[in-house]
Amino acid sequence: MPLYDLHTHSTASDGAYSPSELVRQAAAAGVNVLALTDHDSTAGLDEAETAALEAGIQLIPGVEISVTWADKTIHIVGLRIDRHCNVLKQGLSRLQATRLERAQEIGRRLYRHGVPGTFEAAREMAGEGMITRTHFARHLVELGLAGSMKDVFERFLTRGKPGYVSTRWAEMADAIAWIREAGGGAVLAHPQRYKLTASWMRRLIGEFKECGGEALEVVSGTASPSETQSSAEYARRFELCASSGSDFHSPETAWVKLGRLPPLPSDLTPVWTHWNH
Ligand code: AMP
Ligand code: MN
Ligand code: MN
Ligand code: MN
Repeated sequence: MPLYDLHTHSTASDGAYSPSELVRQAAAAGVNVLALTDHDSTAGLDEAETAALEAGIQLIPGVEISVTWADKTIHIVGLRIDRHCNVLKQGLSRLQATRLERAQEIGRRLYRHGVPGTFEAAREMAGEGMITRTHFARHLVELGLAGSMKDVFERFLTRGKPGYVSTRWAEMADAIAWIREAGGGAVLAHPQRYKLTASWMRRLIGEFKECGGEALEVVSGTASPSETQSSAEYARRFELCASSGSDFHSPETAWVKLGRLPPLPSDLTPVWTHWNH
């Protein structure tokens, strides 16, 4: 059985490794099929594909799209996308502009809160890649304003905190349509992270499926065993396929190491069942 990791990040968004370094680390960890799924960007895919050829593993072109649904931020992973598809490119370019504007606004708010220069620092750190809250967080930790990434998010970057900017991302139906238009399949990322009640979760998954969503990310590096079980129940109930991904960002974050994911519950249909390698 090949080992799949279908959710990871590189320096094209908020990951610590370049796309080629990520591929080499994944291959070394025993991953056979790796999806690179950067936030709202496909810019790392060319480099990752070349590196995957050299490392002898399969690279699945992916993306993690930021969506606003019922006033909440939801992440939809697209797998096996054609990154040259115009509909997808146009959708992502709007989100990329939104990211830049939001980062400028985060910088202004932190400035008013007494912390100057954070936008410039985050932009510098992000380089050519997407600017994310992770970049602000790393900078604020470097400044000694918080003890850890978890701490910095809680104190500065989440709803109600000084550096939080409410942002209108893509519509869920649009994000799924772009992914499908690009020939890919849509996966609802880390369902347990949205902190929804059971009835909100049913609404979310119901709408996700109605819009053409294909799979739930049942096994996620950020999920506990009971959260995985709960996601598996939703996959059964809504007759959705199941995906598996570490959501790897960097070796320092506490999340599961690349390639160290538990198997999917055996009664579920893996999202890769109908892929021909
Ligand atoms: P953004 O899409 O710019 O809002 O940034 C969201 C990213 O921040 C997520 O993809 C995570 O990588 C990271 N993140 C969110 N919350 C936390 C947290 N509590 N601790 C560490 N990283 C987080
Ligand atoms: Mn991230
Ligand atoms: Mn995510
Ligand atoms: Mn992710």
